[in-house]
Amino acid sequence: MRTTAGPPAPRPAPSHGAARLAVVDPATGEPFADAPDEPPDRLDAVVERARRAWHDWRADPGARTTALCAAADAVEAAGDDLARLLTREQGKPLAEAHAEVTRTAARLRLFAGLAPRVRRIDDGRPVHSEVRWRSLGPVAAIVPWNFPLQLAAAKFAPALAAGNTVVLKPSPFTPLATRLLGSVLAGVLPEGVLTVVTGREPLGARLAAHPGIRHVTFTGSVPTGRAVAAAAAASLARVTLELGGNDAAILLDDVDVDRIADRLFWAAFRNCGQVCMAVKRVYVPARLHAGVVEALAHRARTVPVGPGLDPDVRLGPVNNAPQLARVEEVTRRALADGARAAAGGRRLDRPGYFFAPTVLTHVPPDSPVVTGEQFGPVLPVLPYRRLDEAVEAANGTGFGLGGSVWSADPDRAAEVADRLECGTAWINHHAELSLAQPFAGVKDSGVGVTGGPWGFYGNLRPFVVHRPQEEGPGRP
Ligand code: NAD
Repeated sequence: MRTTAGPPAPRPAPSHGAARLAVVDPATGEPFADAPDEPPDRLDAVVERARRAWHDWRADPGARTTALCAAADAVEAAGDDLARLLTREQGKPLAEAHAEVTRTAARLRLFAGLAPRVRRIDDGRPVHSEVRWRSLGPVAAIVPWNFPLQLAAAKFAPALAAGNTVVLKPSPFTPLATRLLGSVLAGVLPEGVLTVVTGREPLGARLAAHPGIRHVTFTGSVPTGRAVAAAAAASLARVTLELGGNDAAILLDDVDVDRIADRLFWAAFRNCGQVCMAVKRVYVPARLHAGVVEALAHRARTVPVGPGLDPDVRLGPVNNAPQLARVEEVTRRALADGARAAAGGRRLDRPGYFFAPTVLTHVPPDSPVVTGEQFGPVLPVLPYRRLDEAVEAANGTGFGLGGSVWSADPDRAAEVADRLECGTAWINHHAELSLAQPFAGVKDSGVGVTGGPWGFYGNLRPFVVHRPQEEGPGRP
């Protein structure tokens, strides 16, 4: 195995006796740096600072646009350091870490250019209403470990652009790139506008419940999402939840397997399958099943797996030991219940959290690898005889994040896609998003909307001025 030296890890001088959080490189399984393990009691001061910073930040939209564009430039300028650190702590290939940094900067630019639209409402009476928009106050952004920078930016970019201030909490598995991002942005944003806090639970729980927080925007698992909603209920803060997914890909009987196999494989295995909207189950007409399994299994057997800093590697390790244990368990259970591994099926015999890219056949439909979220490099491929069966199975879990339909005839695929109960349906691809589109799960996959103008308005509240017609300014 080739290894490449990582960037120097940020290691701020520890204050005497301060607790630290060890950060493990998933490619070695060894700690390589640490971050502050901040006590939840610190949140009072952090949220108060965010509240004070909000007064000036919300007042000047022009200054915000300038600052957020400067923030995007600063992220790009620090791109190499951010990407290498991200790969080191998260495990993804360096090219994907660079893409994540690029999207972080792009989100800042996109939202920097948005302004809320003032609307005048006339309904024939001698009064009119003017709908303006106001920011909410300090926002808590709580982020998981699979896309630490990109998901953070999906929260803080619209929140800041709307005039709020933000307290950002990354996962304790991946605090380092987010801390570096925080210090890069501290160079261009006013003090207190964006604060990064790192530490173990109950830091996130206390942040979600903090009475000074007016919006909790959370991405993570369904059980934690429920806990966040309950915590935020105490102060009736707004809640936006992006939760898990169990997206199905349905292949129709006219699909050209050779043509789609690469796209389908990467839709399931990118970032080692640790993508909320990855393909997590494939439904294939029985006649095509063997060919599809072999096309996917061949790719799973031959894809270069290794440390993300190695330029030849396309698939890194699973991010952390508990997640690796979950992936092992869900696979073990499927195999015990009669599934067969057409590729992989076990942990790789090497240091680090590597799991062989796995394609499963003969999987019982009630196996947890089908009904739940494996969130790892394991893909069940299930045959179907009637299309209705496949649609029913695709809709048959508690999740509703995304889904896709694959066919030589995109219009036919679109008709089937229309029957999927989810937030985003793709035709002949999967898990591609424009930053400008809304993203929203249904059922257990989420509450609220992020992305584009919809995500921007999710960080604002309407403020209505109602006045007699004759006292208003002339109509435009
Ligand atoms: P997680 O729910 O364990 O943790 C997410 C974040 O919440 C972390 O920062 C964690 O420290 C924090 N947290 C833990 N307990 C908390 C509590 N009681 N209150 C407040 N915060 C708390 O999720 P994870 O394992 O880090 O990430 C994987 C999950 O995230 C998967 O289920 C995946 O599908 C989901 N995810 C969803 C999306 C989406 O957009 N829908 C995107 C990426 C990941």
